[in-house]
Amino acid sequence: MPELPEVETVMRGLAPFCEGKRVTRLTLNREGLRFPFPPRLKESVEGAIITRLERRAKYLLFHLDNSWTMLSHLGMSGSFRVENAATATFHHERSRLTAHDHVVMELGDTTLTYNDPRRFGVLDIFKDHHKMLDNVGVEPFSNGLHAAYIHEKSRGRKTPLKNFLLDQSIIAGLGNIYVCEILFLSKLSPFKSANDLTLHECETLTNNTRTVLSLAIEAGGSSLKDHAGVTGELGYFSHKFNVYDRENMPCPACKRCIIRAKQGGRSTFYCESCQK
Ligand SMILES: [Zn+2]
Repeated sequence: MPELPEVETVMRGLAPFCEGKRVTRLTLNREGLRFPFPPRLKESVEGAIITRLERRAKYLLFHLDNSWTMLSHLGMSGSFRVENAATATFHHERSRLTAHDHVVMELGDTTLTYNDPRRFGVLDIFKDHHKMLDNVGVEPFSNGLHAAYIHEKSRGRKTPLKNFLLDQSIIAGLGNIYVCEILFLSKLSPFKSANDLTLHECETLTNNTRTVLSLAIEAGGSSLKDHAGVTGELGYFSHKFNVYDRENMPCPACKRCIIRAKQGGRSTFYCESCQK
């Protein structure tokens, strides 16, 4: 499941191909993804110029010059593929549609194809606000995220710290993988009660949230250079993690075994001796 850095990477990868381009045709190869496509999707997007791409939480926003915005969420398995004269030189020919190419957006000589085998993705349009964005919390890189904000939000919250950080209405875009990594760097137990956070620990969490996400976005940028230019595919990339998916492997700090525990239906990876 893509988290904020993956969506940011996709956004940065797509922007140069999309911004300032007119949508010459939008082809919907099925009725919908997780939800049915809105009836006016095609007519609202076709003919419009994409003025700007934006990421908000884990959503991609295509701002159009006709006051509509197209919202995309990659769900579990969504990805975009870009094909134009430049990528075609690597392919030698334009690749054909596959079974899971559900949406094709033509931007003059560039084609943007949305592929999603599991179809948990979302594609919608809106003008002023979208219900999925209404309760989204602060962006990690915005001025809205700071120690006092986390401290205030955590008062009276006896929920485990991991669940608190996953709450999208507090900080936008954090998912299971990066929360495990943020807690490890912060030396904080995923089971600690959010209410017990000190202001200093909130400062540490703020800084490490930005550090972990920045490093992942940087890794994403290099994976774009490695892969997107060749295959034209944008979606996922792998990272080196400290604790995530490293059960029974040595903690990078103390060499004791990383533990995997179930927490809120998801796997939590942490070091018992480093994280208190
Ligand atoms: Zn350790």
